[in-house]
Amino acid sequence: MQFETLAIRLQTERTQHREHSTPIFPTSSFVFDDAEQMRAMFADEQEGNIYSRFTNPSVREFEEKMAALEGTDDAFATATGMAAVFASFMAFLNAGDHLLSSRTVFGSTHTVVGQFLPRWGIETDFVDGRNPESWQSLVRPNTRMLFLETPTNPGLDVIDLEFAGEFCRKNNLILNVDNCFATPYLQQPARFGAQIVTHSATKYIDGQGRVLGGVVCGDKGLVAEVRKFCRSTGPSLSPFNAWVLSKSLETLAIRLDRHCENAEKLAHHLTSLPQVERVIYPFLDSHPDHEIARRQMKKGGGLVAFEIRGGVSAGRQFLDKLKMFSLSANLGDTRTIATHPASTTHAKLTPEARAAAGITDGLIRISVGLEHMEDILGDLNQAIIA
Ligand SMILES: *Cc1c(COP(=O)(O)O)cnc(C)c1O
Repeated sequence: MQFETLAIRLQTERTQHREHSTPIFPTSSFVFDDAEQMRAMFADEQEGNIYSRFTNPSVREFEEKMAALEGTDDAFATATGMAAVFASFMAFLNAGDHLLSSRTVFGSTHTVVGQFLPRWGIETDFVDGRNPESWQSLVRPNTRMLFLETPTNPGLDVIDLEFAGEFCRKNNLILNVDNCFATPYLQQPARFGAQIVTHSATKYIDGQGRVLGGVVCGDKGLVAEVRKFCRSTGPSLSPFNAWVLSKSLETLAIRLDRHCENAEKLAHHLTSLPQVERVIYPFLDSHPDHEIARRQMKKGGGLVAFEIRGGVSAGRQFLDKLKMFSLSANLGDTRTIATHPASTTHAKLTPEARAAAGITDGLIRISVGLEHMEDILGDLNQAIIA
């Protein structure tokens, strides 16, 4: 089956009611027929649901769909994207191990890698994702994993997955890719050798700003380790959120098509405005990594970044003049969202650290929504040109 069909047709078995839409199983635990069945399931001799922290049919449906869409053997769903990222580290890394991570990762991931993992004796180094030739010199005998995101937030750098896959094979590292910005519809890191693919399902997977969720997809044996870690530590996804996310996947492809179409139009429009210094969109020919983007992504994605002339004050003024776009921390929503990283998400960094992360004072990030294009351009124009 093709991507769109799998996203719609993969579902748990129907109940005796023969419901057409997918059922939801909001239960904390499951009952056993007798003592022997209970013993066998606890002993892992017989498959079956025991307790929703371990498995739940609504959660399992979401996991099976995500594994099918990412082209991986299996998946484990978590309560948030950060729980997925954290579990994907803790299931594999021991004290004394070494992790390489791209420097341009989601803010909370940067904190986990840079501050928490070292507290537990896990050594970490940040690498420049756009300069893969520099990675080899940072590999040590105890290096276990390379973690990266592409496209990155908020600078929309594109990191070469084919190179990363080859690099990890050669150095015997687990390649772990946060595929949140692209979704499996635009990019499947497993095709390039990623053994672990993590997601914040909060973003495009839900796509309507309703629930938090995450998922770790990957090779069977590796996902089993993640499941073992999470079964005891408890970051499980709720059945209700899993049900919402499974339904959302049914429209992922069609939503992403429109997100990308609108984003590409907005990017082209921005390049024509004198108030704009620079436009960043992976499928614009002016993007430094556009050839890599075209090789590994089906379309350019739903995010556009641009640099407004006039620095921090111009950036803040632009946000204040917007009438329709939401000022919000989320992305991947039906609603267009604008953020100004230098005065918000990255305000605590030193100017040098901000520059290293590609965040200039006038950088604006737009998560382009599904409103009519005339209204999106209209709001942008009245806020930028006035
Ligand atoms: C939002 C986000 C996360 C964290 O996800 P939550 O669901 O908010 O915990 C991780 N990685 C990326 C790239 C994100 O955008």
